Amino acid sequence: MQWKILLTDGLATISDQELLAAVDLDDRKGISAEELLTVIGDYDGVIVRGRTKITDEVLSAGKNLKVVGRMGVGVDNIDLEAARNKGVTVVNAPVATTVSVAELTLGLMLSLIRHIPKADCGLKAGDWLKKDCRGTELYQKTLGVIGFGRIGEEVAKRVLSFEMKVIAYDPIRPKDEIIASGAKPVPFEELIKTADIITMHIPHITSTHHILDEKAFNSMKDGVRIICAARGGVVDEKALLAALESGKVAGAALDVFEKEPPGKAPLPEHPNVVATPHIGAQTEEAQLRAGHDILSEVVAVLEGQALRWKII
Ligand code: NAD
Repeated sequence: MQWKILLTDGLATISDQELLAAVDLDDRKGISAEELLTVIGDYDGVIVRGRTKITDEVLSAGKNLKVVGRMGVGVDNIDLEAARNKGVTVVNAPVATTVSVAELTLGLMLSLIRHIPKADCGLKAGDWLKKDCRGTELYQKTLGVIGFGRIGEEVAKRVLSFEMKVIAYDPIRPKDEIIASGAKPVPFEELIKTADIITMHIPHITSTHHILDEKAFNSMKDGVRIICAARGGVVDEKALLAALESGKVAGAALDVFEKEPPGKAPLPEHPNVVATPHIGAQTEEAQLRAGHDILSEVVAVLEGQALRWKII
């Protein structure tokens, strides 16, 4: 028997023939919310990215639905409570994109402190902005990592080769694990007061909403730099813009926004902001891994096998 799986946002090419033999994949990339409601009843499973909202209504219409697979980490687009109540399992593919996001974070950090996007745009426009592009080194600076999970840890490992000092705030991760990765666990207040660069690697949940707010920015070092490739909402964008305008924050590099896409808005347009359109996981390798991981996890749910990444 083949399990009927709906793909609402595509899936990378899967080469595992055994896995493919277990499923009947229906690729309806870009399906609208209205259409989703009318077709979901036919499927055993659905695989989504962040675009597709799996609401209570969708779950109710999914009469045969047993599993929702989220290709990637964040499950904020899935009504977990409704899924739990209806006995629908939710799984994700959390490790597939870790290295890609960590590498992008390094790219954002270097772009920010060495003004690489500005220098490139200038040169393309015929301007030699050498004097305007004086930057700083990472060497011996302190990086504050907020959220020392998979991505935070990979970022820490990489910046240690730049001979940065790494401090980390993560109230959940055991301190000895943070220390073993070469970072020093510190309270939140100490991190924001002492870091030269702060990088965010936390989920967007109630306790992390606007964790960097006006009060936090006021406590930071003058000229601090902020990087966020986690989720829009962990940084208060209004407070960040004010801190950039006052000069308290020397620069920010943002891959995620409270509203995506942000459109023409003062924050991404600010001259001291490097902005990218949520490209953390946009690599060949991450997409291949995520596609394979999520399909094998969805099949594991349907066939009653052991699960690696069950959310509920
Ligand atoms: P993870 O679960 O491995 O790590 C998150 C860490 O945050 C955990 O160690 C947890 O203990 C910690 N944490 C939770 N609440 C906290 C709090 N209040 N204060 C400080 N730390 C707290 O997740 P991950 O795979 O490392 O992903 C981190 C973030 O990156 C997530 O928000 C994820 O959605 C985002 N992400 C972004 C992209 C992108 O394209 N930019 C891609 C993948 C993941």
